Amino acid sequence: MTRARIVLGVFLAFMLVAPLVLPEFQITLLNYIGLYSIVAMGLVLLTGVGGLTSFGQAAFVGLGAYTTAYLTTVYGVSPWLTLVGGLALTFVIALFLGFISLRLSGHYLPLGTIAWGISLYFLFGNMEFLGGHTGISSLPAISLFGIVLDSGRKFHYLIWTLALLALLSMHNLLDSRSGRAIRALKGGGLMAESFGVNTARMKIIIFVYAALLASLSGWLYAHLLRFVNPTPFSINAGIEYLFMAVVGGAASVWGAVIGAGILTILKQWLQDLLPKLLGQSGNFEMIVFGVLLVLLLQRARDGIMPLVVRYFPSPNKPLPPATQSLPTRARPAAGETVLELKGARKTFGGLLAVNDLSFSMDSGEILGLIGPNGAGKSTVFNLVTGVLPATGGEVNFRGERIDILSSRAIVTRGMARTFQHVHLLPDMSVLENVAIGAHQRGDMGVISAALHMERAEEAKLLAEAARQLERVGLGDSIHEQAGNLALGQQRIMEIARALCADPVLLLLDEPAAGLRFQEKRSLAELLRKLKSEGMSILLVEHDMDFVMKLVDRLVVMDFGEKLAEGLPKEIQANPVVLEAYLGGVK
Ligand code: ADP
Ligand code: MG
Repeated sequence: MTRARIVLGVFLAFMLVAPLVLPEFQITLLNYIGLYSIVAMGLVLLTGVGGLTSFGQAAFVGLGAYTTAYLTTVYGVSPWLTLVGGLALTFVIALFLGFISLRLSGHYLPLGTIAWGISLYFLFGNMEFLGGHTGISSLPAISLFGIVLDSGRKFHYLIWTLALLALLSMHNLLDSRSGRAIRALKGGGLMAESFGVNTARMKIIIFVYAALLASLSGWLYAHLLRFVNPTPFSINAGIEYLFMAVVGGAASVWGAVIGAGILTILKQWLQDLLPKLLGQSGNFEMIVFGVLLVLLLQRARDGIMPLVVRYFPSPNKPLPPATQSLPTRARPAAGETVLELKGARKTFGGLLAVNDLSFSMDSGEILGLIGPNGAGKSTVFNLVTGVLPATGGEVNFRGERIDILSSRAIVTRGMARTFQHVHLLPDMSVLENVAIGAHQRGDMGVISAALHMERAEEAKLLAEAARQLERVGLGDSIHEQAGNLALGQQRIMEIARALCADPVLLLLDEPAAGLRFQEKRSLAELLRKLKSEGMSILLVEHDMDFVMKLVDRLVVMDFGEKLAEGLPKEIQANPVVLEAYLGGVK
């Protein structure tokens, strides 16, 4: 049994026994920690993992609380029905707010969440039918299996069962195809989109998920206190929720529970202690909080969880057995034209980065794209893979015009790439990083992931990732953290990730950069093997020795234009190329 399991067992046993032995006051504290944890978990997903900061979660808590308060007191609706109603209302409103605020980028997004957080708070306070600032009282108690939950002691079990279920669902979600996609959002989404992740949709999903958890917490809160008023749903509370997630460790689900625990207990303690110390009453704890937080952010930016995790080394998870492998796409016939650029053009403001470039490549061919720095090679990759829209011209892939398609749509047609500057998720294992490449070959969504009903598909995706890692020679590193690999190995890992997309055309942007001599040789060997299996490869590379021995043909670019095209021998002897680029290299 691992140490983590033992601690989990002790924790569960404590939660089970606590209401039987602890005094009322401490039960209340535990209940609050449970309620706050549920909200903070949503923030872990949204902010810690997804990189989207929200100050507005308290408003969703209020939405859940006010829906049930109003419907149960005015219309006598059962709290279980109002739970469904509150979640449905939150769903609709979060969807709307998500659509308008997730378009905001950088620090405009947190500002946007503050704006609607404040608006909803004032809405609660100024609505006559919601009791204005006095609120709504005399909510009914929830009854469950005939037991009326009219005390904190009884309520404890409901709160913590739901909190633990939320925790489990979140844990499951993060450990899945969708979870990998969510974790890939933080890097800006370029890589994720290139492998078929709909990043805009993913953002909305985690936003709504976090809002639903907040709303659930609000429902519980309302029936625990049996009274609601606007105060606990203000922007201050929204900030505290965010603090909890950050203090605990915004990238870990348990961090939410730890953060909620620490802040709740500390606040209680300071509220008792400080007025005695200072001899006058006031909210002094907020000042201490502020100072502590600044210190924490300086000393332990990732919160407390990483410090805790150190004591709980997790063993490498064995790969789940996959009974089937993923289906593969039909390969093009030998000699079929796979890629064709016709007068492709890209301008950045006044800069002409790619100027009426035309070339084509056949299936099974390795085509080298060379040229000095700034010639426009990476821009060509971005045009072909749909990362950038072309200013003019056409790009065709397997006979279909693709320059009008998104990169998401292009990867599903069988084209995958690596990046000149590696795009990986350093905290994730090599296996998980590579599995992102197979994203568009699975279709199980967030709900099946949260319930872990997608295990068969997940096994296939991971098996595919392991197979591709084996293929490129990284079979021994699958459990390593990707950030710990040497740069050369990270580049090779990117090739494995691209292969996971089951491509017929592979675009490699300077794959040999940073590789040692021996590594370059094995890379060349790998690319030859791929070619012999019918793969087409478009290769940008500066190491001329490497390129000339490997490629079938070359296209030379300079200042965005095609300078020359031909066999390696012809290019090496071409006086124009020699002058512009190759210089002394022979
Ligand atoms: P290469 O890969 O051949 O070194 P690039 O395609 O990266 O060249 O760049 C071609 C030219 O386009 C350079 O002058 C570069 O500064 C410019 N460029 C590339 N990407 C952008 C961009 N996103 N915005 C503005 N200019 C860019
Ligand atoms: Mg480049």
